[in-house]
Amino acid sequence: MLGTMQDRPLALPHIFERAEKFFPHKEIVTGTATGERRRRSYGDWAARTRQLATALDDLGISPDGRVATFCWNTDNHLELYFAAPCSGRVLHTLNIRLFPEQVTYIVNHAEDEVIFIDRSLLGLIGPLLGTFETVRHLVVIDDGAPTEFPDGHDFLEYEDLISGREPAEFAIEDENRAASMCYTSGTTGNPKGVVYTHRSTYLHTMAAMLADTIGTCERDVILPVVPMFHANAWGLAHAAVASGADLVMPGPQMTPPAIADMIVEEKVTLAAGVPTIWMGVLPELKGRDTSALRTIPCGGSAVPKSLSEAYREQLGLPILQAWGMTETSPVASVAGLTSAMDDLDEDAKADLRAAQGMAVMGVELRVADQVTGESLPWDGESQGELQAAGPWVTADYYNDDRAPQSFTDDGWLRTGDVAVITPEGFVRIVDRTKDVVKSGGEWISSVELENEIMSHPAVAEAAVIGVPHPKWSERPLACVVVVEGEQLTREEVLDYLDGRVAKWWLPDDVVFIDEVPKTSVGKFSKKDLRERFADHELPET
Ligand code: AMP
Repeated sequence: MLGTMQDRPLALPHIFERAEKFFPHKEIVTGTATGERRRRSYGDWAARTRQLATALDDLGISPDGRVATFCWNTDNHLELYFAAPCSGRVLHTLNIRLFPEQVTYIVNHAEDEVIFIDRSLLGLIGPLLGTFETVRHLVVIDDGAPTEFPDGHDFLEYEDLISGREPAEFAIEDENRAASMCYTSGTTGNPKGVVYTHRSTYLHTMAAMLADTIGTCERDVILPVVPMFHANAWGLAHAAVASGADLVMPGPQMTPPAIADMIVEEKVTLAAGVPTIWMGVLPELKGRDTSALRTIPCGGSAVPKSLSEAYREQLGLPILQAWGMTETSPVASVAGLTSAMDDLDEDAKADLRAAQGMAVMGVELRVADQVTGESLPWDGESQGELQAAGPWVTADYYNDDRAPQSFTDDGWLRTGDVAVITPEGFVRIVDRTKDVVKSGGEWISSVELENEIMSHPAVAEAAVIGVPHPKWSERPLACVVVVEGEQLTREEVLDYLDGRVAKWWLPDDVVFIDEVPKTSVGKFSKKDLRERFADHELPET
């Protein structure tokens, strides 16, 4: 027996038209390259988005042509976010911090037809323009930066392109049609492409709006510090529009003081970014009015317990940790505490917040033995590969021979993360498979060691890597950045760790560095550290 319900596509025009109809008065504030903030209503944004879609038709972009963006988080980027998919095209957000050869690879691999570029970023992409094989149009969005236009190419101006155009009508009949694509920022090999459908984006947006997930709502003022090229700003760009929330887009104003100013002056209620962002912003918020803030979703890499606790102490608001991947749209688990945890003491609660949390409704997570592939018990101890399934988890990579090894025989995504799941269903990431320190056949979690080291008040940042060892195969090396004005010795770090971690986990050495190198999306780049310390001689222990 079939149900009697209407079969309507789960597609982005519905989300767009909701904001257009119900929330035209709500606001998108954008930081510009001049240091000022521009304010635009959703009504104006919606009208321009429809004109932009007509401009894509007039440029002759194919019905499912890839529309690339090389942009900051801005109101214009949000126009592209909807104009491309709602007119059937595929939005392709380019990561502005990728290595140049990777940008060339992904533009050619995705067969982008047009690239929209923020003027302040022209200098970055300019030298690559000649390497793009399929791009027919370059459109510059003037963000107030005085950057020169590179010679030898024709550029269209964004405002000229949309002005005076007729508004397009939007209709997507097939919810499984591609809406957008994003390449992973992986550190090995070429990036891999993930293609989101209208349906997956719609469902992920609804999941982001759930109270026990991120819970975006109409009253929110949302600041996505996470870039719109990093897994769709974790779904916040769509969820803000769907909710009718005000948006604060930082644009190129990405320094900790600028972000802190936006939080305070725009009365931001929800601000999301990777841990390294929140490490920088905390001191800038000292003594200021942050009373509007209600949640700080954070993921991309493990949120140190000490960072979350520092926010709780200073702002009265711990960080809300979420876990996900480009491949999972990305939100897959969130570490909100449940009612059963109410009676725990603060330290136990902080420990739970330092985990990656419970799978959000719609996503299934399991840990599997890395050799046999068997599912492991949820006992908080059995470590295995974290695997994911769900309607917004990718089933493949776009045109990529490497895809089969990333999926199990029953179609689950192999995440490459090592994790345990506790009896209450909380996922705790132990490490990335390639970052775990393999010592004498046993594993040492670099994440846990880093967490402990970063809880030392004189430590600003710490990353732990495995370095080759003749007897144990690998041993941990701690790379530590000391807080400005403080002093710390190797022995003090080791003494501090003694008793906090198992004896055999203690790093064999500690080196002091000026800064932990970061990846294109602001995570600790252990690959760079491994290269730098490949020949590091460990002292005899
Ligand atoms: P990306 O596709 O760049 O977002 O990277 C996804 C990877 O980031 C995951 O497979 C994890 O290794 C890592 N990651 C994301 N969120 C977290 C988190 N909350 N804790 C630990 N690792 C995380």
